[in-house]
Amino acid sequence: MIPVSEPLLAGVEAKYVADCIQTGWISSEGRYLAAFEQAWAQYCGAEFGIGVSNGTTALQIAVAALGLEPGSEIILPSFTIISCSLAIVEAGCVPVLVDVEPETWALDLDQVEAKITSKTRAIMPVHMFGHPVDMPRLMKIAARYNLKVIEDAAEAHGAEVDGRRVGGIGDLSTFSFYANKIITTGEGGMVLTSDEGLAKRLRSLRNLCFKPERRFFHTELGHNYRLTNLQAAIGLAQLERIDEHLAKKRWMATSYAERLRDLHQLRLPIELPGYKNVYWMYSIVLSDDVPFDAVEFAKRLQQLGVQTRPLFLGMHEQPVFHERGLHLNERYPVTERLARRGLYLPSGLTLTIEQIDAVSDAVHKVLA
Ligand SMILES: *Cc1c(COP(=O)(O)O)cnc(C)c1O
Repeated sequence: MIPVSEPLLAGVEAKYVADCIQTGWISSEGRYLAAFEQAWAQYCGAEFGIGVSNGTTALQIAVAALGLEPGSEIILPSFTIISCSLAIVEAGCVPVLVDVEPETWALDLDQVEAKITSKTRAIMPVHMFGHPVDMPRLMKIAARYNLKVIEDAAEAHGAEVDGRRVGGIGDLSTFSFYANKIITTGEGGMVLTSDEGLAKRLRSLRNLCFKPERRFFHTELGHNYRLTNLQAAIGLAQLERIDEHLAKKRWMATSYAERLRDLHQLRLPIELPGYKNVYWMYSIVLSDDVPFDAVEFAKRLQQLGVQTRPLFLGMHEQPVFHERGLHLNERYPVTERLARRGLYLPSGLTLTIEQIDAVSDAVHKVLA
């Protein structure tokens, strides 16, 4: 079976982790944590990095740090992971959905302005599967309506728009370093910002809102969402080789495209001019003339030894939100189509050309 995702780990990770163990710095203090936070912020073009336990907790403290009054609305794409909506609902805010663009699956900016009300306080673009959202245009909309921007860049490490890396453009950005992300710490995440006040709030929220001047004295409730020095050691080693990881993803995308582009039954990922797509996972969508859906497609590929994963099911189709009276009778056709007709192929960082050949042959066979 060709696995859908595998991390690429090297001797440097082991060396740094061994150093943590030998020196006893294994919890959430230590030089690797500070070094990783600083290096990642710098890489993305932000001033401050706040390491956290995962990409979901990164979103949770990013929304919480804005200190919005209950009932504030935050606009986000329906086509995303539940972590985004969870962070909004948990902060007492209201998720307001828009559809995504059919080609890039990025937040459809043409639909954003129509959803802005007197209660809107923020926009949460998600750089989906490695293709950035049009951030210059989004930042202009945000400025016009005085809205904060939280970029979810979990899937887009190193992706660029107009020569700027994602994660350094919004007021806040969040990352995941889960094992299937472009660089990993096993489990882990980070929030970036260039606003010193927000950075201070984020550090406090991540660490139980302890007061620096008086420990065990609290004026607000926080969380324990800390990242360990051990995880940061892995992250720093990964970051040293990020160019190699990004080159591998782009090589994978080119290789798949060469082998699949003659199939009129498939929509393949694209890269719009002015953008750098990092092709987190190679995702394909069945056209309408294919007589089966993605579930059946996945089953047939599995029988040929190819593991796949479905794409997200939109937030507007989630019973957990319907029960709360959210998104009832809303429709987002692009999101619905991606959920039913799309999947991603094996895209791990250890993928070989023989595996890409085998996967592509299997796709041809199933669609023949
Ligand atoms: C992976 C991911 C997350 C969540 O990250 P975890 O570390 O798994 O909590 C959030 N947003 C997006 C877009 C993701 O792909």
